Amino acid sequence: MDTYENYIAGRWVASAKTLDVVNPSDGTKMAAISRGGAAEIDAAVLAGHAARKGPWGKMDAVSRGRLLLKMAELIRRDAEMLAKLESDVGKPISVALADVAVSARYFEYYGAAADKVHGETIPFQSGFTVMTLYEPHGVTAHIVSWNYPLQMTARSVAPSLAMGNAIVLKPAEDTSLTALALAKLAEEAGFPPGVLNVVTGLGEEAGVALSTHPGIGHISFTGSREVGRLIQSAAAKNTIPVTLELGGKSPQVVFSDASLDEAGATIVKSIVHNSGQTCSAGSRVLIQDDIYDRFTTQLADRFKALRVGSASQDLDLGPVVNAAQRTRIENYLGIAKRDNLQILAEGSFGTTVPAGGYYVKPTLIGEVPASHAVAQEEIFGPVLVALRFRDEHHEVQIANDTPYGLSAGVWTSDLSRSLRLSRSIEAGQVFVNNYGSGGGVELPFGGVKGSGFGREMGFEALYGFGVLKAVTIRHGL
Ligand code: NAD
Repeated sequence: MDTYENYIAGRWVASAKTLDVVNPSDGTKMAAISRGGAAEIDAAVLAGHAARKGPWGKMDAVSRGRLLLKMAELIRRDAEMLAKLESDVGKPISVALADVAVSARYFEYYGAAADKVHGETIPFQSGFTVMTLYEPHGVTAHIVSWNYPLQMTARSVAPSLAMGNAIVLKPAEDTSLTALALAKLAEEAGFPPGVLNVVTGLGEEAGVALSTHPGIGHISFTGSREVGRLIQSAAAKNTIPVTLELGGKSPQVVFSDASLDEAGATIVKSIVHNSGQTCSAGSRVLIQDDIYDRFTTQLADRFKALRVGSASQDLDLGPVVNAAQRTRIENYLGIAKRDNLQILAEGSFGTTVPAGGYYVKPTLIGEVPASHAVAQEEIFGPVLVALRFRDEHHEVQIANDTPYGLSAGVWTSDLSRSLRLSRSIEAGQVFVNNYGSGGGVELPFGGVKGSGFGREMGFEALYGFGVLKAVTIRHGL
């Protein structure tokens, strides 16, 4: 069994303690990672500052961009190895390969953008020239969730590097292996030591040490609302900016004039992809009254055909990440049954699902009251709840009636209605007659309300990893 070390200042550094990495497909231990803590985080932050004072801090934007482009090339070269590592922590191999391709795109996109960060000149009093410059924050902290380990890492690491920051990355404890592989590729690409540091370990140890460290200039956090609040208070104590990419309870709204076949196929895919462990999964389907029965029957047929299996079986769904996540989903299903909600359909386990793995059946629940826990709270599993609405006004009321506001889908052939709803639904992104932005690295992504704030992806993320400085020069007439 391999034991992985932290990557600090260009060196592999073991911690005194380790954590097991479990394969969720069969529950076996497959590796161990270092259980880093305050000492390792401190060393990594120092290494980041040293890198900023060295060649990395002086490197021009074109050269930085080329290093990122090289990373994209290396990720593509090693796509199978990286996908295998992600698959070992539960992803069906075809999903893992798609995630690796998106990760390469982040480095490509931000590599090409690194030398396109322009400031402005501002008309001011005669005899003055005023210009704005974007500068890096210094050392940025990246605390990442386990559901898309490599993709979420690339999403914030690539723009931060493109802006010239140094990085301390704390991957999720269940899924740290691809972050460590990425550090190896960064070394091969030619990033100087200390530019990308990876400390593995527990949230309450390495995560707390990183988010509270006074040497950090920015925190990028992807994870739960509960931990997001702790991160925000840690950032407040050090007066630094933070980007919070939190959870969601995103509505998929289906009007009777929609193309129902297309809507049904996309809605089911969106909730079962990655076993429902997707922050932007459309986990509530709001259906107009007159097509409710027809559309739920269609959805139920699709759910019944879904098959669950190990990552290597590569079926519609793999396992969920760990035993705690399976229990969480089962608890919500238990509450739905206790309250006599209608279970409209369940998918099935393949015949050879390995014993010891963490599997749940994809489930469709009907006639769910908007205030019920399964319609309000993020289950983070392959569970879709169906709700009825009468008209557009009623729909908007239900769509906005959760603490979250990450994504929304609107299915209609009425252009005016789609424009009205794009404005009235409270969400960071609205998709009309399509759904999902996972692959669209160009599209700004983030939440409102309890889903967090700040934007990742697109140019917005790049600017978010920089600080605007105004320079006012009096040179006379
Ligand atoms: P989590 O909040 O438990 O953990 C996220 C990360 O924070 C992990 O690396 C963990 O080790 C670390 N952490 C835990 N406690 C910490 C603490 N006290 N201080 C500092 N760090 C700490 O979340 P999770 O269960 O890993 O991820 C699932 C959640 O992430 C879901 O709510 C999901 O919707 C959300 N998510 C959001 C997005 C997005 O872009 N909006 C993307 C993916 C996941």
